[in-house]
This record gives sequence, structure tokens and C-alpha cells, in this order.
Amino acid sequence: MKIEEVKSTAKTQRIAAHSHVKGLGVDEKGVALQVAAGLVGQEPAREACGIVVELIKAKKMAGRAILLAGPPGTGKTALALAIAQELGSKVPFCPMVASEVYSSEVKKTAVLMENFRRAIGLRIKETKEVYEGEVTELTPCETESAMGGYGKTVSHVIIGLKTAKGNKQLKLDPTIYESIQKEKVEVGDVIYIEANTGSVKRQGRSDSFATEFDLEAEEYVPVPKGDVHKKKEIVQDVTLHDLDVANARPQGGQDIMSVMGQFMKQKKTEITDKLRKEINKVVNKYIDQGIAELVPGVLFIDEVHMLDLECFTYLHQALESTISPIVIFATNRGHCTIKGSDDIVSPHGMPLDLLDRIMIIRTSPYALEEMIQILKIRAQTEGIAIDEDSLQCLGDIGVKTTLRYAVQLLTPSYLLSKVNGRDVIHKEDVEEIRDLFHDAKTSARVLTTDKDKYLH
Ligand code: ATP
Repeated sequence: MKIEEVKSTAKTQRIAAHSHVKGLGVDEKGVALQVAAGLVGQEPAREACGIVVELIKAKKMAGRAILLAGPPGTGKTALALAIAQELGSKVPFCPMVASEVYSSEVKKTAVLMENFRRAIGLRIKETKEVYEGEVTELTPCETESAMGGYGKTVSHVIIGLKTAKGNKQLKLDPTIYESIQKEKVEVGDVIYIEANTGSVKRQGRSDSFATEFDLEAEEYVPVPKGDVHKKKEIVQDVTLHDLDVANARPQGGQDIMSVMGQFMKQKKTEITDKLRKEINKVVNKYIDQGIAELVPGVLFIDEVHMLDLECFTYLHQALESTISPIVIFATNRGHCTIKGSDDIVSPHGMPLDLLDRIMIIRTSPYALEEMIQILKIRAQTEGIAIDEDSLQCLGDIGVKTTLRYAVQLLTPSYLLSKVNGRDVIHKEDVEEIRDLFHDAKTSARVLTTDKDKYLH
């Protein structure tokens, strides 16, 4: 099983809009502060979420799930993310929209299963031999490319490393240079180089290492061996889905034959049940050996009324499994028909037996003042300068439409203010952008009033 090469497949794009959210912002008594941890208002829901976090930590949530019920734009995703953050900094959070399960290529349950596995983390602790120290010099050495006339290639790289045992100058293989570039290593960074793989990791900055200089160039190819060697516990956080992906894609060797082989063979990127079972087996072995530990995360399923009966049955079973993430559903629907049923009407479009296992938390619309506070935090997070008048104006727009629409106007308004030669958003920028991009309600109104102008 490949663990070293695993890249995280977290859905960063979807989470980006909530990057200002750092937690639930409740105090030790469980009381929500009006503005804290990036969250504003919505106090009863935040307090309820706080209790859920306590239940999860006390392992009292097994087999149960949560439903956040409230109008659009009331921070349901933000709350679900905050719950994941309260559970720990490396706890996976996987947001999805129920309609994602409908695809022509993949079975509905397979989509659900994939997202379940994105929401289950694995913390792998390994002791590796590493070279650790602060970078004092970083010089890629180039030679003319063998192809002639096609520029230069890096032949080796010289790294000065200030280690606990003194200073070293290492001459390293160019493959390590790729790793250095990927990690954006600069002079002054503390790095470690894994002895077996040559992979380089940056650890931030520190001045805890020796200062005395003892420079001598040594030839170490591909990875140095010598007295700067030490053992280090390396912790890597991946999700089960990351492992599925890494093992489904044959990465092959570096040699030309295996690279060619990849072209000839049919691309095998599908994650099969068999592969998942194999990975589970290896994961279980690692857990038994104490090398790995499971970190159940949060799976957030928005617009849950879009799921059908088959999906609900699957989810119900999955919730019972011993390794299940915390499932948080969200909806803005009241009573509606359960999809895939013969017109069974149920609260939130969910089957009653599943509803029975669910704790429902309500979210309510924001007041103008709260909208303004949220917009202000978002502007700060995105590095957008905005004056008070514009914030007020955006807040008004948010109250009339949705918070999400108002937040989405921030970046275009900022761009427009730049076009107008300023670096602060003024009210006229917001108004111009508001008139250019319709919110859903306005758009619906235009569709009804100008009905004859559209195709039917
Ligand atoms: P929903 O799922 O309810 O439609 P959402 O969480 O997906 O909502 P919006 O509620 O539309 O997203 O939120 C728009 C933006 O406002 C997001 O960036 C979100 O993080 C932020 N936001 C929402 N509620 C709060 C809050 N109480 N405090 C701070 N930021 C919030």
C-alpha cells in the first residue's frame, strides 16, 4: 500500500468560502459568544452543536446523525465545518450536495461510499530516519542539457544544513530538488529529508539548531548517509479515500519501460470494492500494530431531500457500521415527498425510521447587523477593503436576498473598485455589481414578468 505518495483529495474549493470559520465559538460552559471563532450570531444552533461535539467526544453519537434545518444562507455548512474543527485540527470534513449521487457513470451508493471514505481519517505514525536541520544554503547546480540547445538541467543541488550536531553541506540528487521545489523550501526553513525516499518536508522556521559552521562538500547520492542521521516520528494524516485513490492509480516506476507500460495498459483508475476491501485489510493491520489510528470526521450532506429511498437505506446501514463518520444532513424543506417512494410525504423528505435517529438543530435568518458582521469578517479574510456605507448596503442586499448572494458580491465589487481606480469598495461599486448579477429571487421574478420572451 502506498502511503508516502498520497496527496490529499480534500474538497478545498467548497471549504474555501468558510475559511474564516475556526470553531463554534462557545465558552467552557457551552454558551455561544456573539462573535467568536469566525462565527456570528446563530447562538442557539451553535450551542446545540457544542453539545453534539461533547456527545461525539463521549462516544455517545454512534448510529445517530444530525439534521440542520433552516432557510438557505443561514450558515449550515459553516456550522458543520465548525463541528469538525472542534473535534480536532486534522479531523476530515467532507461536504457534498445530495444531488451529486445522480451520475450516469457511478452508482448512487458508490458515490455515498466515496464520500464516507473521504470523511474517515487515518493518522499514521511512523519512525523514520531523517536528516533534520535549518537550510543555510540552497543552490541548484545546472549543466547543459544532454539534448543540446534545450536549456539547462539541474544536475545536483547543494544544501547547507544547520543541524543539532553541527553544520553540513550536502550534495544531493536532482530528484530531491523536485521535492524541495514542491515544498517551497527557502533558506531559513527547517526541513527534514527522509533517508529512504529522499522526500523533503518543510517544518517552518526555528533557531534551535547549532550555529557553528563546519562546511565541507560531501557527495551523497541520492540521499546522504552520515552523522546527521536521526530517528523521527513522522505523523501523516490521510483519509481512506486518499488511500483508495493512491492505490487505484498505478504510479509505476521511474524507468522508461514502466512509463511506457502505463500508456499501453488501459487506465485503471476505478476504485473497486475489491480494492477498498484490500485497503481496509491493510488499514486494520496497521491499526492492530499501533502504527495507525482512525480519525472519524464529518460528512456533510446538503439538500438531503434530494436523496432517494435507496440512498437512505444505504445511509441507515452505513451509520450502524463500526467505522462511520459523523453524518450531518442539511435541508431547507419542510414536508415533502421522499424521492424514489410512491408519494410518501415525510418531514424534510426523509424516511421516518432515519428521522428517528436524528437530532434536529434549527438555524434561523440573520438580522441586518449580523449580516454586516459576517460580511466584514469575510472581507477581512479575503483581503478586501470596504467602507462602512458599502457594508451597510451589502447587508441590506443580504436581508432582501440571501447572505450567500451578498458574500458573493464582495469580490466582483472589489475588482470593480480597482477598475475605477480605487482600492476600497465604495457603495456605487456594490450597486453596479448588484445590477449586473441577479440573485435567484430577482431572476425568478424577471422570468415571470417577461415570460413571453423566453423559450418554453
Ligand atoms: P446554507 O447551507 O445554510 O445554505 P452555507 O453555510 O452553505 O449555508 P451561507 O449560509 O450561504 O452558506 O453562508 C455564506 C457565507 O457566510 C459563507 O462564507 C459562510 O461561511 C458565512 N456564514 C454563514 N453563517 C455564518 C455565521 N453565523 N458566522 C460567520 N459566517 C457565516
